[in-house]
Amino acid sequence: PGEEPEPVVPQAGSSGLALLRRIGVVDPESLDDYRAHGGYTALRTALRLGPAGVIREVTEANLTGRGGAAFPTGRKWEATAGQPVRPHYLICNADESEPGTFKDRVLMEGDPFAVVEAMTIAAFATGCSRGYLYLRGEYPRALRRMRGAIDRARERGLLGRDILGEPGFDFDIEIRRGAGAYICGEETAIFNSIEGYRGEPRTKPPFPVERGLFGKPTAVNNVETLLNVPLILTGGAAAYAGTGTGGSTGTRLFCLSGQVRRPGVYEVPFGTTLRALLDLAGGTTGELRAVLLGGAAGGFVGPDRLDLPLSLEGAREAGTTLGSGVVLVFDETADLPDLLLRIAAFFRDESCGQCVPCRVGTVRQEEALRRLVGQRVNSSGEDDLALLREVGRAMRDSSICGLGQTAWNAVESAIDSLGALSGGASGTTTEERV
Ligand code: NAD
Ligand code: SF4
Repeated sequence: PGEEPEPVVPQAGSSGLALLRRIGVVDPESLDDYRAHGGYTALRTALRLGPAGVIREVTEANLTGRGGAAFPTGRKWEATAGQPVRPHYLICNADESEPGTFKDRVLMEGDPFAVVEAMTIAAFATGCSRGYLYLRGEYPRALRRMRGAIDRARERGLLGRDILGEPGFDFDIEIRRGAGAYICGEETAIFNSIEGYRGEPRTKPPFPVERGLFGKPTAVNNVETLLNVPLILTGGAAAYAGTGTGGSTGTRLFCLSGQVRRPGVYEVPFGTTLRALLDLAGGTTGELRAVLLGGAAGGFVGPDRLDLPLSLEGAREAGTTLGSGVVLVFDETADLPDLLLRIAAFFRDESCGQCVPCRVGTVRQEEALRRLVGQRVNSSGEDDLALLREVGRAMRDSSICGLGQTAWNAVESAIDSLGALSGGASGTTTEERV
């Protein structure tokens, strides 16, 4: 926290903008300007539909989570709303720490009132009286904008008691900041962090919808997920579901970085091909070698997969995930073995150490990879490759949370689909480079 990085410029996809439509257009510090650009019409619609009506619309739209796991939002909200225990809590997960992910930052910096409105609608639907925005500590501009938007909304009666004159609809938002730990974006680690404990994940089940923050029913949603809800309510579930593919509705924000000519956040309908997305970003700077989809927890695809439709089904079929929308591009100058070492070091560093498969497995993975990368010119390294696979399987099968379960994904896909360890771009070993 402290250093304020340069803002990321959002880019329009081929369909025009939906989630990004106000970015760079609306004054992010003015509630009046937000209203002049359609703000708060969705909340009025929500109040008219009632909580069950809002959940029905979100379910019919087939909205899925944009944080990475793509769980159906309607199911999550219905499960939270149906819990008899009170209070219910809402958490907007804005910890956005997946390497190569910066879409939520663009939304919070450019359209902060939309986050407040969308959280208010979510709270209305799920019966939450208190919301937390769990914000990545390294986003000072987003913090300033979100603080301002929450304060302005409260001053104007859009947070607090009897919101928009709806008797008994009380809701307010508090911001909590992360302090640089990747694991604190895991939803149950967020609970521990807010409650003042070490940021370590809890075992699931019980799922947060039943027992979450302070042991109460809790709906946790990513920023981008929530910002789809006003679009669904104002345009209708059917229209929303008409965009994208049958199994992946709506548009998706993709974070393009690496060796592309115009990096940035792009909004395209689900199902757009990888080729079309890269074209929007001006293409690669050199000959395409690989694309990492879904971030460190995702997987690599090679240049032979350019016609891959970017949908949940398409990614699954290609053995990867869209995750949080990471599209990290590498041309022929990239040193893939070195990149794998960095990914392995990242997981070793960010493992919270709570469970053995991940605490030990991420260390063993990095060690085996380091040996393999060092040997790759002269040796097949079969023993280490077998060890790597065994450790990877153990982490996937028996780690408590997503970090350990996915720590082997990118390495595995690079070895299997790209042959990343059978010769590097530079032809040198890590030891030689060091
Ligand atoms: P998960 O599959 O455990 O859960 C997804 C969501 O669905 C959670 O909110 C969970 O509570 C809910 N859920 C699952 N089953 C349920 C059930 N039966 N009833 C009610 N709710 C249920 O995944 P996760 O560990 O929450 O997330 C993993 C993803 O996070 C990965 O795909 C990774 O890409 C992504 N990720 C994103 C970032 C980022 O910066 N956006 C950072 C790290 C990881
Ligand atoms: Fe911690 Fe890793 Fe276990 Fe998750 S899988 S609880 S990060 S040690």
